[in-house]
Amino acid sequence: MTTENPQPGPPAEGPGAGRGLFDKEQLDRCISCGFCLPACPTYSLTGDEASSPRGRITLMRALETGELPADDPTLAEESSYCLGCRACETVCPAGVEYGQLLEQWRDHQWSGPKRPWIVRLLTAVVARPFLLRLQGLVRRHARPSGGDSADGPSLMLGCVERGLYPAVSRAALRLRPELNVPPGQGCCGALHAHNGDSATGKALAEELGRRLPGTLVTTAGGCAAHLAHHLGPDRVREFGDHLHREGHVPAGRVTVDGRTARVGLQDSCHLRNGLGVTRPPRDLIAAVADYVEVPGAGDCCGAAGTYAMLRPADSRAVLDPKLAALAEADLDFVVAVNPGCLRQLRQGLRRTGARTRAVHLAELLALAEEDRT
Ligand code: SF4
Ligand code: SF4
Repeated sequence: MTTENPQPGPPAEGPGAGRGLFDKEQLDRCISCGFCLPACPTYSLTGDEASSPRGRITLMRALETGELPADDPTLAEESSYCLGCRACETVCPAGVEYGQLLEQWRDHQWSGPKRPWIVRLLTAVVARPFLLRLQGLVRRHARPSGGDSADGPSLMLGCVERGLYPAVSRAALRLRPELNVPPGQGCCGALHAHNGDSATGKALAEELGRRLPGTLVTTAGGCAAHLAHHLGPDRVREFGDHLHREGHVPAGRVTVDGRTARVGLQDSCHLRNGLGVTRPPRDLIAAVADYVEVPGAGDCCGAAGTYAMLRPADSRAVLDPKLAALAEADLDFVVAVNPGCLRQLRQGLRRTGARTRAVHLAELLALAEEDRT
């Protein structure tokens, strides 16, 4: 992983000159081998080359060279239809950092009046610290506190999670009371970076890095990957990864009706595909419950940041096979390690009337602290 955000170059001049929208070295790195096609959820749904990673990189090249006009509808459609799950990166033999290219693409596609209003609204809200503080007054997330050491690891409260799932940070602090919870935390900028404003995304990540001392511990896989990219992987830990490295020993098991609970996992795409963290959440669940590896656990759930709001029908098409696999697995709980995935799973499970409950990893592990049977 690089810690420097490769920036698009200035517009070049002369034959073959580009528009300067993309990091040319990244664009050139793709050898069009197609190894990424089977890994791509949107290509699996459509079978259309344009909806594949290779096809999208071809579109980016055509945009960069001017072969396609900037207002070509396929450019708008495919830059939006892509989930940004980065599954294509894990199988790419050429090391194309597709996630970076997508950020650059959306910087162009979603600039100015082309920016979807939902994106405009959400990014404006989370970039205002007083609105985040207001959420804290209404929803009881973990309170600011000093941990064991002033320069020790800090728990990041997140912006979406603070408002929607305040119990997650409370559970995390209960499990690791030594974490600092500094006041005045802003957004990490992942939402901006993934939605057409990578400059603000970078600035917010750097600002948060200055405000939070020590290692930044986050309960959101998407935030972990974004922060690790800008602050360096040694500065950032996803919560489960942090617990795993610290050798977390649970106090008990999670039980349902007197038996050990059956629990599966939904990976966070950016945690899995961006940071390569797959083992820690599985090991932590297996330490407190009967872990069930659900087929497709590593595939995108369709939440994908703002995607479920911008493209609800496509989001559901990605989620539905996962709901079927969860029903087949007959679980008591399915664990998420990212607030967007948690929201997506809860909504889907409610819609289908499933008995399985979606919980965050911190909430499941906190349950094990209560149950000492
Ligand atoms: S696997 Fe990598 S190099 Fe091959 S087509 Fe996909 S992005 Fe390009
Ligand atoms: S990020 Fe995901 S949806 Fe987008 S091209 Fe890559 S694999 Fe396909």
